[in-house]
Amino acid sequence: MRLTVIGTGYLGAVHAACMADIGHEVLGVDIDAHRIAMLSEGRTPFYEPGLQETLTRGVDSGRLRFTTSLREAAEFGDVHFVCVGTPQKEGSQAADLRYVDAVVEGLAPHLRRRCLIVGKSTVPAGTTAQLEVRLDTLAPMGADVEVAWNPEFLREGHAVEDTLRPDRIVAGVSSSRADSVLREVYAPMLRDGVPFISTDPATAELVKVAANSFLATKISFINAMAEVCEAAGADVTTLSEALGHDTRIGRPFLSAGLGFGGGCLPKDIRAFMARAGELGVGDSVAFLRQVDEINGRQRSRTVDIARSMVGGDLAGRRIAVLGATFKPNSDDVRDSPALSVAAAVHREGGIVRLYDPEGIENARSVLPQLEYVHDVAKTCEDADLVLHLTEWSEFRRIDPAVLAASVSVPRILDARNALDATLWRSAGWTVRALGRPTPPALPNQQATAPVTAVYSSDLG
Ligand code: NAD
Repeated sequence: MRLTVIGTGYLGAVHAACMADIGHEVLGVDIDAHRIAMLSEGRTPFYEPGLQETLTRGVDSGRLRFTTSLREAAEFGDVHFVCVGTPQKEGSQAADLRYVDAVVEGLAPHLRRRCLIVGKSTVPAGTTAQLEVRLDTLAPMGADVEVAWNPEFLREGHAVEDTLRPDRIVAGVSSSRADSVLREVYAPMLRDGVPFISTDPATAELVKVAANSFLATKISFINAMAEVCEAAGADVTTLSEALGHDTRIGRPFLSAGLGFGGGCLPKDIRAFMARAGELGVGDSVAFLRQVDEINGRQRSRTVDIARSMVGGDLAGRRIAVLGATFKPNSDDVRDSPALSVAAAVHREGGIVRLYDPEGIENARSVLPQLEYVHDVAKTCEDADLVLHLTEWSEFRRIDPAVLAASVSVPRILDARNALDATLWRSAGWTVRALGRPTPPALPNQQATAPVTAVYSSDLG
C-alpha cells in the first residue's frame, strides 16, 4: 500500500520506518526540513534502539522516502497517518491541536484520490468527529476522504519492537471500508495473531487516554505508598513485590521512585481532565489531579532529601546527577523528572554536573546553565552527593567501591530504587532511596535486592 506518515518525531519516524519494513511504500512528511534531510540520508534524528537499522533498510530498499511537501503526500498516499505532536496548550490543561489541524488543512485541498486519513497522535475524544466536519468543507473529494483514529501505544526505548509487534491494534472507524483499509495496512501483525479492536472513533480516542491515565495512576499509587512507607519506616520495594504477586494487581508499573514524565503521560492526563470537564464529567476523572500532584511531589521530595543529605543547604554543594532523560533507552528529556530535579538543585545554588548516556545534547538545549560531562567517573569527581535520577542499566553496573574513591563524600540518593543498596552501603556509601528505610530497619535483616524486572521505563 502507499502510505504517508505526517510528522516524523518519536512516533512518526518509527511508524514510517516500520511500515516500510513490513512492505509498504512509505512517504514521511515533516515541516522540519533539517529532520527530513537527515531521514532521507538514512540518519535518525533521535536515539531509539533498532530505529537506525530499520530506517536504513527502508531507505536502501527505495520503499521509504521523505518530503516536506503535503501536496506530494496528497498525490502519493492511499492512507495518511497523522503523527504530529499534541502538546499541552499554553495556559491550559487541554491538548493543543493546532498541529493536527494544520496537517488536515494543508493536506485536504490537495486530495484528488480516494483516501483514508488515520490519526495516530493522542487526541481528546471527539477530535475525529470534528475533523470529519472540517474535511467536508476542505476536501474537494468530499465523502471519498474519510477519517479514522488508530491510537499508538508504543513505548520510547522499545518503539520499533512495539510497532512491529504491538500488543493490540485499536481502530476507530466510521465505515467498513476504513476498517478493511486498516486491516490491510496491519495484515502481517494480524496474521501473527495481534488482537484488532475495531470500534467507533470516540472509543478509540478514549482507549489511549484511559490507558495512560491507568498507568499514571498505578505509578502515583505506589509513590503515595512510598511516602507512607517512609513515614512508617517500611520498605516500598518489598511492598511492591508483595503486591505484585497478586495477579489482580500485577507487578508492572509498581516501582516507586521519581515518577513519570516525558512527552505523553503528564500532558495526556491533563488533557483528559480538560476534555472530561468540557463533556460535563470532570468529577469522574478528578482523581487524576491527585495523580498529577503525587507525581510532581516526588520531584520536590527528591530535592528535599538531597538537601537534607548535605546538611540542609544545597548552595555551593557539588551535586553529581546521573540521568537526564525521562526514562532509559531514549534521548527524550520532555518533562523529564531528572532534569526537573537537576534544575531545582541548581536554582538552590547547587553546583550541578550531569551525565546521561544519550540525553546530554537535548538536556543542554533545555538547561544550558548546568555542566555536562561524558562519563560517570567525571560526573562524580569530588561530588558531595550523587543523585541517581534515570535508571539506565549503565548506572546499575557502576562499581560503588571504585566510585567511592573519587567523590568527596560517598553519599547517593537513588531516586529510582534501581541500585543495590546493600552493595553500595558495603562499599562505604550512605544510601537514601525514596520509600525505603534508612538505615536498614534491622541490622540482621537482609536488604531486599533491587527490583529490576519492571521499571517506569515501560512508559510510552
Ligand atoms: P514529536 O514532537 O517528537 O514529533 C512531532 C513531529 O511533528 C515533529 O517532527 C514536528 O516537526 C512535526 N510536525 C509538526 N507540525 C507538522 C505539520 N504541520 N506537518 C508535518 N509535520 C509536522 O512528538 P511525538 O513524541 O512523536 O508525539 C506525536 C504524537 O504521538 C503525540 O500526540 C503523542 O502524544 C503521541 N504518542 C507519542 C508516543 C511517544 O512515545 N513519543 C507514543 C504514543 C503516542
